[in-house]
Amino acid sequence: MNVVFLGPPGSGKGTMASRMAKRCNLLHLSTGDMLRAEIKQGTELGNLAKSFIDKGALVPDSVIIDMMSNRFLEEDAKNGVLLDGFPRTTAQAEALESIANIDSCINLVVAAEVVVNRVASRRVCANCGEVYSIKTYAKSDCEKCAGELTIRPDDNEKTIRARFAVYEEQTAPLIEYYTDKGILESVDATMPIEEEAEYIYGILSKI
Ligand code: ADP
Repeated sequence: MNVVFLGPPGSGKGTMASRMAKRCNLLHLSTGDMLRAEIKQGTELGNLAKSFIDKGALVPDSVIIDMMSNRFLEEDAKNGVLLDGFPRTTAQAEALESIANIDSCINLVVAAEVVVNRVASRRVCANCGEVYSIKTYAKSDCEKCAGELTIRPDDNEKTIRARFAVYEEQTAPLIEYYTDKGILESVDATMPIEEEAEYIYGILSKI
C-alpha cells in the first residue's frame, strides 16, 4: 500500500505519517527530511535545495522527481510507502504515477492561522528529529535522546507565510487531482493527535 499525505506546512503530515508507518509497518518518506539530511551532509543536492528552502520556495520538480525515483528503487520501499511532502505539484503527481501505484491520499485540512501559530511553536531535536511544540513541552532537550531542541531555519513567520502561499498556489490543486482519481480522504487536522491518528488508521485499515 502506498499513501500520500497532503496538507499545508504544519498540518501534521510528518506526525501522522510517522505514527502510521509504525502502526502499519510501512516506510515513512519525508522529502523535507531527505533534503535536510542532504543539507547537513553538504552534498551538491543539499546546497541547491537550501537556496530554495530558506526562501520558503519549492525545490525544482526535476530535482525532487529524480531524488524520489531513485529512493523508490531501494529494497525498503517495496513493501509500501507513506509519502509526506511529495508530491507537491501536479508535475510531481504525474511523475509519481509512473513510479508507484497510489492507493489513498490523506488530505489534512487546517486553516492558515492555525498553521502559522503551530509552526512558530515547533522545535525539532537536532539529533533524532523528534518534533515538539513549546506549547506542550517546555524543556530545551529531547525527551528521547537528550539532543538539543532547535528551530528549523524555515520556521520563522515570514517564511511560514511564503510556504503557505506556495502551498495554496502549487500544492492545493492536488486535492482536486486525487479527488478526480477517487482516492482522496479529507481529515480535520485540528482534532486531538490521538483521535486524528485513530481516524486515519481507520481509513488505512480499510485499504
Ligand atoms: P513543511 O511541510 O512544514 O513545509 P517540509 O519539511 O515538508 O515542511 O518541507 C520543507 C521544504 O522542503 C519546503 O518548503 C520545500 O522548500 C522543500 N520541499 C520538500 N518537499 C518538496 C517537494 N516535494 N517539492 C519541492 N520542494 C520540496
